[in-house]
Amino acid sequence: MRIVEVSSWSVPFPAADPVFRWRDGLPGSAPAGDRGILRISTDTGVSGVALAGRPGSAPVLADLVERVLRPELLGADPLQREYLWHRIWELDRIDEIPLPLLGIVDIALWDLAGRHYGVPAWELMGGFRERIPAYASTVTFGSVDEYLDVADQCLALGYSAIKLHAWGDATRDIELIRALRDHVGAGVSLMYDGSAGFDLPDAIRVGRALSDADYLWYEEPMREFSVNAYAQLSRTVDVPLLVAETSDGAHMNSADFIAAGAATFGVRASAGLRGGLTGSLRTAHLADAFRIRAEVHGGDLPNRHLCMAISNTTYYESLVTSNPVRREACVDADGFVSAPRIPGIGLPAGPAYPDELRQHIADEDANR
Ligand SMILES: [Mg+2]
Repeated sequence: MRIVEVSSWSVPFPAADPVFRWRDGLPGSAPAGDRGILRISTDTGVSGVALAGRPGSAPVLADLVERVLRPELLGADPLQREYLWHRIWELDRIDEIPLPLLGIVDIALWDLAGRHYGVPAWELMGGFRERIPAYASTVTFGSVDEYLDVADQCLALGYSAIKLHAWGDATRDIELIRALRDHVGAGVSLMYDGSAGFDLPDAIRVGRALSDADYLWYEEPMREFSVNAYAQLSRTVDVPLLVAETSDGAHMNSADFIAAGAATFGVRASAGLRGGLTGSLRTAHLADAFRIRAEVHGGDLPNRHLCMAISNTTYYESLVTSNPVRREACVDADGFVSAPRIPGIGLPAGPAYPDELRQHIADEDANR
């Protein structure tokens, strides 16, 4: 089997409904805009697709396809995912491919392989489970009282754990961290994600509050440029750290966080940010060797497949963007997400895709 065509499309995606906020200083939910889709086609008729999920991705992907990806991939064997994964990192040396696009070829090749063999990607990766609990990952709400109300709704809807994305103000966030623990009691797993809003002194203040309130993990309080700052934090606070989500270099970078003693809970696996499924599997196996977690970040279709294939992940991240809370369609009443059933990975249902991509659009019901 050989690759005979590499194409990209620009597909209009609607704005989030309702719109929502992240912490102070960050833009909120993305407005309506085009996203890029990559398709890799072969001489046997089977093809694979992947979505570039970030706003502004469509023109960047189109340019990469024209200049870099098509010349590299035409004529290659699409089942040699390992070889092609290494080629992308070679090409990155000159092109500095945007982090969320470093895994897009890999995701399309796993989709293609799954369709070629007639099995879902998670099964092809080596299945570990067929369902996993989801945690409610909040966006940023307006007040402590609103968060407590949202938490009550999440627990009533079946979620067994809650992760805060709060304001990024250490004093206000500490008040919320304590109030939420007091409100839900000792039996509910709580996590906190700083979305890189702090410097080290404020990260230590927040970390001490998280330790006192018995939070399960403390995620990305600072930008992940300084491994040293994370090592200092891990020596200073007791709450376990979940690190290396947005830093470049996939498992090669995660290794430095682990070696520095900074990954006391674990590291992030992520189809979008750790070099596709292949980079995430490498990261997970690396973490497994050190007996720490590789928690899957983000809640799209490729990451659902990763959740079913990685032994040392424990949750699916389900974003809660609204009040009243709407439970994500793939999360059942017991708070679990099940393994996708269609071959390959597929594209999420909803957007107005071009006709050429129809066969790749995942039927929501088949994936529920
Ligand atoms: Mg995060």
